[in-house]
Amino acid sequence: MRSSTLLDLAIIGGGITGAAVAREAARRGLSVALVEKGDFASGTSSKSSKLIHGGQRYLESFHFGLVRESCRERAILSRLAPHLVRPLPFLFPVGESGAPSKAALALGLALYRLLAGSSSAGPTRFLGRGDPRLEGEAPGLAPEGWRGAFRYFDAQADDALLTLAYLRDAARRGAALRSYCAVERIDRGKGGAASGISARDLRTGETLAIRSRIVVAALGPWSNGIAGLVDEELPMFVRPSRGSHFFLPPGTLPVSAAVVMLDASARRCYAIPWRGGTLVGTTDADDPGAPDDIIPTLEDRAELLGAIRRSFPGARLDGEALGAGFAGVRPLAAPPPSRAGSPAGVSREERITEAIPRLLVSVGGKLTTARRTAERVLDRAERILSRDFGRTAEGKRPESPLADGVIPDPEAFRAAVRRQTFEKLDLSDAHADRIFEREGSGALEAVERMAREPELARPISAFLPYTVSDLVWGIESGLATTAEDLLSRRVRLRWESPAEAGKVAGLAEETLRRFRPKPLAPGAV
Ligand code: FAD
Repeated sequence: MRSSTLLDLAIIGGGITGAAVAREAARRGLSVALVEKGDFASGTSSKSSKLIHGGQRYLESFHFGLVRESCRERAILSRLAPHLVRPLPFLFPVGESGAPSKAALALGLALYRLLAGSSSAGPTRFLGRGDPRLEGEAPGLAPEGWRGAFRYFDAQADDALLTLAYLRDAARRGAALRSYCAVERIDRGKGGAASGISARDLRTGETLAIRSRIVVAALGPWSNGIAGLVDEELPMFVRPSRGSHFFLPPGTLPVSAAVVMLDASARRCYAIPWRGGTLVGTTDADDPGAPDDIIPTLEDRAELLGAIRRSFPGARLDGEALGAGFAGVRPLAAPPPSRAGSPAGVSREERITEAIPRLLVSVGGKLTTARRTAERVLDRAERILSRDFGRTAEGKRPESPLADGVIPDPEAFRAAVRRQTFEKLDLSDAHADRIFEREGSGALEAVERMAREPELARPISAFLPYTVSDLVWGIESGLATTAEDLLSRRVRLRWESPAEAGKVAGLAEETLRRFRPKPLAPGAV
């Protein structure tokens, strides 16, 4: 297949960066296509800690600008996608060896709130050891030497669903999206400038050529391969750092606030509430391996298990309790390891470069700041359009909600979804919250449909709040095309409970045969 239309932008990579860039381009009225070699969000963007946060840790390395911007983005995203981004309390124990002193932490958290300004996510207070709220939110928390904990707020979102919300918004505004299509070459025109991409559909073998004025590479940890795509020597773009997580099923380590834990070298990691269970992570280690093949190592498992045991000495856990786990690769915007310093010390800021004329490469950044990164990429793209094609830059537009995010009073709406879910489907609040998270403003209609078609309301997990409707949503609206897309990224059973994922695989295949995607975009690539 060969597209004769000349587009403004061709984007390589369907993680959060590519997705946010596609949406911002479509919002600015540019013609745009995005090509992803796997499922959307199948790279780092489904393997993060799922925090929408200011990153108070970065204050210690004096990255004040990044913290201020991240806090601002946290507030903006909470407004644009209130169904996906929800506040999350944190507990930071004080007095433990290796932790900052109480005074240093008090100062840091005051600064954190100050930098957030009106974007602050919630109040900060110190809870002394023995305060019943500590035992209520983190039963068994008792690191040696602790005297209590600071309680403060950040936010949380399902990273894959957030990426899909950007993509679906982009598609509704005219962006063309294609998954399972690998870019094999960045085409070059006059003066060696990028002039489009050549790709291969990995399922049909069909080749695809897209002509574009600008190419944006949003390849995350795959960015060091860009030189191969342009057939020219380029500097390395990223320092890949592996981060692993493990999921503890409900009841194993019950927390309703995220707990800051310290590993053996006093590096921070977290026990984070996740769909009734607990997500434990992350590690941070240089890993030059192929990003496609990265999995948690035995060392990662031991490191996180040690951190849990130090913070929750009464927890009776062995390595098996940690389950399958998953690992992602941070595309840190720095040259690959000079081995000077640990990757944890590398800035999380993004870097946007015009690597060859009309090829913009965006690396680094965070889930939290992808919207802002996209604005910067588009500012650069518009300057190139003006420089090389005489186009007038229109600049950024007033913000607008992500797909399904127009919800004037999210808490009242969530309560209504819970009520209807219970009355009409006899399902729990956790199921209702899941429907709200997935459908946003369409949640009440989804509940109505589940009442009309009861097979959709059938739970598919013994202990996680998923129903058949999650699979149907994934196919109809969630851009999923394979059973693995459904099990790994529309629901998360693949790492939450591999045994349950195995049992649901046949149902996922059958659902794929029975349901069809609803049209999102006016056109396809
Ligand atoms: P990716 O999501 O990796 O996307 C790149 C895409 O390019 C991939 O989907 C890949 O398949 C595709 N691709 C590669 N080659 C080709 C090709 N030839 N053709 C077509 N497509 C191709 N940030 C936060 O804000 N909060 C957090 O809590 C947080 N926690 C994190 C925890 C861990 C362990 C890690 C690793 C990161 C975390 N981050 C967090 C950072 C955040 O997840 C990343 O910055 C972000 O997901 C990177 O997105 P991306 O789109 O740049 O890369």
